[in-house]
Amino acid sequence: MSYIGRFAPSPTGPLHAGSLVAAMASYLDARAHGGQWLLRIEDIDPPREVAGASEHIVRTLAAFGFNWHGPMTYQSQRSEHYQHAIDRLSNQGHVYPCACTRKEIGEGSYPGTCRSGMPTGKSARAYRVLCNEQPIEWHDRNGRSQIERVDLSPGDFVLKRADGLWAYQLAVVVDDGLQGVTHIVRGDDLADSTARQIYLQQLLSLPTPSYLHIPVVLADDGQKLSKQTGAAALSTDRPLEQLAIASVHLGLGAIHATSLSTFWEQATSAWAHRFGLTATYRSI
Ligand code: GLU
Repeated sequence: MSYIGRFAPSPTGPLHAGSLVAAMASYLDARAHGGQWLLRIEDIDPPREVAGASEHIVRTLAAFGFNWHGPMTYQSQRSEHYQHAIDRLSNQGHVYPCACTRKEIGEGSYPGTCRSGMPTGKSARAYRVLCNEQPIEWHDRNGRSQIERVDLSPGDFVLKRADGLWAYQLAVVVDDGLQGVTHIVRGDDLADSTARQIYLQQLLSLPTPSYLHIPVVLADDGQKLSKQTGAAALSTDRPLEQLAIASVHLGLGAIHATSLSTFWEQATSAWAHRFGLTATYRSI
């Protein structure tokens, strides 16, 4: 089987204990399948980017013994692909301009105000995809199945933002498709986006990868540990200790290894065992 997985961090802060768990899960799954693992920096949102975060993420992953396949990619350099995809969707009649402000839309789903044209005198701010009533059914390798109507929630969603930036949903689908990603392993907080991403894959005739969402690491206050809420940057001083903590979070038990390579061997075999995979892994 050909397996391509990826880790796709947004450089909105340095690598922290929570993002290490996400990186580790996708890496172990790729290793346990004897597959490739790509690193893609999702730097398409300059206002949310933190200076130096992308370098910190890459440096820390390398110091922890992660090996990615081929050169890493940066979404900031892939604009032409997103433009091509939106042009294609637009030519098929799936995209429309929207003049609504955030205040006009309010909290809930997009009510479809600009679906059949913008109110006279208003000009385009964002571009949205027209969603249909077809339910999206998808299965998570964690055992959960979902049936979702994206037209009801969140409604026609944004592909190109009012500030001219590409939306995460479009960029991630285009890149996973063009990079041939077959398996997505990421935090539970992104499960909400999956139906939208499958919908876009269908419109763009891209295959739907297999999905596994893993529990996110919570901070003491019960909130998701995140870069935006200032989670502490991981230090590269004691990689084996940090890796052992992350492996416990993934339910692999504490792995006491004396070198990075033995850590990764043991963690991969624990992961393969947990998911009933034959341990045909090799170093990547
Ligand atoms: N860039 C996203 C983030 O850092 C993850 C994208 C994904 O795994 O689909 O939250």
